[in-house]
Amino acid sequence: MLKAIDMHVHVYTGDKVKRSEDQLKKDGVSYHLEKRGQTADEVAQMYQRLEMMAVIFDVDSETRTGVKISNAETAGWMKKYPQTFIGFGSVDPWKGPSAVDEVKRCADMGLRGMKFQQATQAFCPTNPRFFPIFEACSRLNLPVIFHGGTTAISAQTPGGGGLLLEYCRPIPYIDEIAARYPELRIIIAHPAWPWHDEQLAVMRHKGNVYMDLSGWSPKYFPESIVHNANTLVQDKVFFGSDFPVITPERWLSEFAALPIKETVRPKILLHNAAKFLGIELK
Ligand SMILES: [Zn+2]
Repeated sequence: MLKAIDMHVHVYTGDKVKRSEDQLKKDGVSYHLEKRGQTADEVAQMYQRLEMMAVIFDVDSETRTGVKISNAETAGWMKKYPQTFIGFGSVDPWKGPSAVDEVKRCADMGLRGMKFQQATQAFCPTNPRFFPIFEACSRLNLPVIFHGGTTAISAQTPGGGGLLLEYCRPIPYIDEIAARYPELRIIIAHPAWPWHDEQLAVMRHKGNVYMDLSGWSPKYFPESIVHNANTLVQDKVFFGSDFPVITPERWLSEFAALPIKETVRPKILLHNAAKFLGIELK
C-alpha cells in the first residue's frame, strides 16, 4: 500500500553523472555531492522499501555551468519504475526558443511537470523573455516547481557563488506568475525562509499555488508554516524531503514529532500529492 509521496527528490543525469566531483565543484554545481554515489536504481529501491512514490528531477543550468543534463534519462527512470517514480523535467530558461521546445519534448516523453531553480539558473521569473516557457507549461498542463527562499547551494562561499537569492522571493515574483497564468499550478519548494510568510500569503490568495516542505529538517520549520499547514493551507502542502539533502526516513521521523492534527497528517504525506498528480489511491 502506498504510504506517502515525496514531492521533491533530486536525481543526476547527463554530464552530472559523468563528471568528477572536483570538476562539478568548479562548474558551480557542488550540490549534494557526498551522496551522489546513489544511483537512480538505488533510489528507486529505497522508495520501494519505504512503500512510497517520489517526484524526481534534475536541474538544467547549462548556460551558467556548462554542464548538460538529460530529461530523457529522467523520463527513462520513470518508465523503468512507473510504480515509484514521477518524473519532472527541467529547462535552462536562458536557452530561449529551444527551452520552449524542450518543455514540449518533456510533455511528449511523459514527464509530469517542470522544475525551476531561480538562483542557480540565475533568472528572474517575471522577466517577459521567460513568459513563453510558462505559457507552454500552462498550455501543456505541466505544473511547475519554483525554488523558495534561501539555498544551501554555494552557501558560505565568497559571494555565494554569485547566486542571487532575490529571484527566490514569493512576492513579487511567484505571485505575479500565478496571477498571469491562473491555469498554471505552481509549487513553491521548501519553507521559503526568510520569506515564508509571503509564501503563505500567496498560497492563501492564489488558488493555483502550493508548497512542499522539503529541504528543511521538520524540527526547524518556522512556526507560521506549521500553524498554516495545520489549518488554512492544509490542502495545499506536500511532503518533500529534498533527498539526498535529507533522507525521507529522517524527515518522516521528525515530522511525526510535530503538533500536526491527525486529520491533516495523511493529507500532507499522501492525499494532497495524489490529488495534485492525479494518482488514484487503492
Ligand atoms: Zn531541491
